[in-house]
Amino acid sequence: MKRGTLLVVSGSSGVGKSTVIAQVLKERPELYFSVSFTTRAPREGEVHGVNYYFVTREDFEERIARGEFLEYAEYVGNYYGTSMEVIREKLDKGVDVLLDIEVQGAAKVREKLPEAVTLFLIPPSFEELSRRLHARGTDSEEKIAQRLETARREAKEIVHYDYVVVNDTVDNAAREVLAILTAAGCRMERRIHLIDKESDSL
Ligand code: 5GP
Repeated sequence: MKRGTLLVVSGSSGVGKSTVIAQVLKERPELYFSVSFTTRAPREGEVHGVNYYFVTREDFEERIARGEFLEYAEYVGNYYGTSMEVIREKLDKGVDVLLDIEVQGAAKVREKLPEAVTLFLIPPSFEELSRRLHARGTDSEEKIAQRLETARREAKEIVHYDYVVVNDTVDNAAREVLAILTAAGCRMERRIHLIDKESDSL
């Protein structure tokens, strides 16, 4: 039975990752988006169980202690984590899974599941990132400065990813992400079940 592809998508906050991911999911509805746990407060329009599971620090720390997370990280003062159980079940069933996680989490996934395909979404420029964070209007100046500083630090990790996608337009970026997913699904280890090794024929 074919296992699903685990696609890890990282990108500096404000790069437009959620918008690109939403477009990818629209075009590939069978792709499963892993809903993370976080201790951050919901932003306007975010829904519990859809964008994140919004939990208290205490609840999150209990989950850490129970070993529920495939990975978790602290990012700009909040915890974010991916629950192991659902991901494992989906991949075993052959369903492709998309994780939207930051660089520390991606490093842990690479360690634990080396077959994961990792992708970093970058803005056309750093100035454009700053402009987008201000335009979003959801964070204070202090938070924006903190996010930009984090983005500069994260940029050093990009070389560890398998793919880089530039978010110049949402359509272009989504198309490239879909192409990467398609290519990953055609890799030999995912297609070997289609080949009859005994008889030298298909
Ligand atoms: P935001 O607060 O803007 O929704 O997310 C901040 C950062 O946390 C983003 O870079 C996002 O990819 C990352 N993130 C979201 N969920 C997870 C998770 O489960 N684990 C990790 N390590 N990072 C996550």
